[in-house]
Amino acid sequence: MITFLSGGTGTPKLLQGARHVLSDSDISVIVNTGEDIWYQGGHISPDVDTVMYLFAGLLNTETWWGVRGDSFVTHEIISRLLPDSFMAIGDQDRAVHIIRGEWLKQGMTLTTVTRRLCTHFGVSATILPMADTPWTTYVQTAKGKIHFQEYWVRYRGNTEISAVMHVPTEEQPATPDVIHAIRMADAVIIGPSNPVTSILPILSCTGVREELARKNVIAISPFIGDRPVSGPAAQLMKTMGYQADSSGVRALYGDLVDLFIQDIRDTVAIAGAIQLDTLMNSPKIASDLMREILTRVL
Ligand code: GDP
Repeated sequence: MITFLSGGTGTPKLLQGARHVLSDSDISVIVNTGEDIWYQGGHISPDVDTVMYLFAGLLNTETWWGVRGDSFVTHEIISRLLPDSFMAIGDQDRAVHIIRGEWLKQGMTLTTVTRRLCTHFGVSATILPMADTPWTTYVQTAKGKIHFQEYWVRYRGNTEISAVMHVPTEEQPATPDVIHAIRMADAVIIGPSNPVTSILPILSCTGVREELARKNVIAISPFIGDRPVSGPAAQLMKTMGYQADSSGVRALYGDLVDLFIQDIRDTVAIAGAIQLDTLMNSPKIASDLMREILTRVL
């Protein structure tokens, strides 16, 4: 079994390729929940949703969130009454958020809720939220301390940030299923996700680093040169005091990583790293990358 650590864009692209190389039942994905948010009566777990929809064959792979071809009737009605609706949620996607919220309110864990949803959607990969208790990412801005979703979706990242913080401040325990998925893995792949908002929250769950230390861990950089392929990773890396490039990502992961992969276009020199085509503009590039990785680790 191969276990991935994932956010909601870069690693899901790699997972799309992995599905051509591995069977879904041999894939486990530990997913960031640091961006989760209660919104308009539902509970959004954006990275879990993206990974789940990917394996269910429903994902909108133009945006890497939401359900392909979804309608937005509910959003249009709500927006007229609540002009502050800063996230456009599709109708089918919203149904999932409402059900998740209901089940959480009934006392189910996020792990159980995710398993039930995955069963409903016929997903045979194992999709695991990193924790069953919240550890939510906030950023300090001139507008105050705001949820990461507000920073990225409402303000489109167009506001300076001076700190990244988490609520609650105490790190949360990884779930027993997460620990098991690392223990059982032949290799663990940290996909090319945002190191600060997607991977660090998973690494911060108590127990994860200790388990990873015993495993063959491969990490793929989400940076090419001094820019991430997409998203706010550069600003976040700088805020955390790291270089906004692959060397910063390498430093952030430290000695947890046994093999570091950077893009062939990357000019940053990193000792021991290998360079492959990581720019996954098509599922074919993603599956070729996945095949290359597996030949080096299995
Ligand atoms: P989020 O939860 O939506 O922020 O998604 P992730 O954290 O999973 O992914 C965001 C990161 O994916 C960004 O830092 C991007 O640079 C990276 N990314 C997106 N597409 C690619 C790609 O094709 N190749 C690489 N190497 N990184 C990518």
